[in-house]
Amino acid sequence: MIPYSRQWIDDEDIRQVTKALQSDFLTTGPIVEDFESDFSDFVGSKYAVAMSSGTSALHASMFAIRLGKNFEVIVPTMTFAATANCVVYEGSTPVFADIDPHTLLIDPLDVERKITPKTKAIIAVDYAGQPANYHDLRKIADKKGLVLIADSCHSLGSSYSGGRDKAIPDINTFSFHPVKQITTGEGGMATTENEEYAKRMRIFRNHGITNDYRQRADKGTWYYEMEELGYNYRISDFQCALGISQLKKLPAWISRRREIAQRYDDSFRDISFVQPLLTSRDVTHAYHLYVVKINFDQLNITRASVFKKLRAQGIGVNVHYIPVHLHPYYRDNFGTKPGLCPVAERVYEEILSLPIYPMMTDNEFDEVLEKFFSIIDNAAA
Ligand SMILES: *Cc1c(COP(=O)(O)O)cnc(C)c1O
Repeated sequence: MIPYSRQWIDDEDIRQVTKALQSDFLTTGPIVEDFESDFSDFVGSKYAVAMSSGTSALHASMFAIRLGKNFEVIVPTMTFAATANCVVYEGSTPVFADIDPHTLLIDPLDVERKITPKTKAIIAVDYAGQPANYHDLRKIADKKGLVLIADSCHSLGSSYSGGRDKAIPDINTFSFHPVKQITTGEGGMATTENEEYAKRMRIFRNHGITNDYRQRADKGTWYYEMEELGYNYRISDFQCALGISQLKKLPAWISRRREIAQRYDDSFRDISFVQPLLTSRDVTHAYHLYVVKINFDQLNITRASVFKKLRAQGIGVNVHYIPVHLHPYYRDNFGTKPGLCPVAERVYEEILSLPIYPMMTDNEFDEVLEKFFSIIDNAAA
């Protein structure tokens, strides 16, 4: 099977994890801080807080900004459910915004339309690895006094308007699930320039307790205070050892992802019924996903059968995503329904994610393309 994405673990990764496993700390130890420090150097942020997943990083960001109950946060509907769920965890309501049909990124115009007196924040998603339109979103957020969060779980290694720009959103969140750019098994990170947010996220990941085991040991005391209701969202030392080792390879891996994406783009250039997504010229895309839109109206085949045929031939295509407002949980509990985000609902019918990952060989790429075209060409004839 050629999967849509996969991790790459080498001997050096295994050596580093083994070393960490033989140290005194299995969970929170010095390697967590080392990973945070390497990570903030890499993305150019002042603070980085490592957590157990991208989802816990999103949840922590909602706690950091003091979202509270019965407020609203605007999120794109074309995303993984966790982007919206983190708002519900804190007792507030996700309000679903529609997307741009060419990039599948949150549409700033629809964001403006959906702001109410209860809106406290916007969470943008860097869909497929392309940064959202942060310049426009920042202006909207500032005008309305809203917090701007980036769900950057797709876009580690991306950049926009030339580099150290992670400071535009108030908090960025990342995931280290094996399908993402680098992995720690499960894991996540939140970065920010705001000291108060960083501090709140640190206590949130450890039950709301104001110091950790190591700090108490250093001070020779047993005393601690639980100031807030937090969770156990800690990440272990040996996971962070893997993260540090993986991060070293990230620039080369992003180059390889971009190379594969370019080859896909070139292959689809003259095919009218297969459309790659648009990429803005002033961003560096990190290509977590390579998504095409297929015009099934012009073809004698459904998406379901393209999907089935490719899977049967060992090509692990996927669909990212079912619009979140169409999930039963949101329909039942928040009254969302079809018609709420018409662009996303239409585009959802057309999208397919093709395999892309750094370890993918040229032969694997050729195999994917050959099988894809043989099905599509047949359906066009
Ligand atoms: C992967 C992902 C998450 C969640 O990350 P986990 O580490 O799996 O919890 C959240 N948002 C988006 C857009 C993602 O792709």
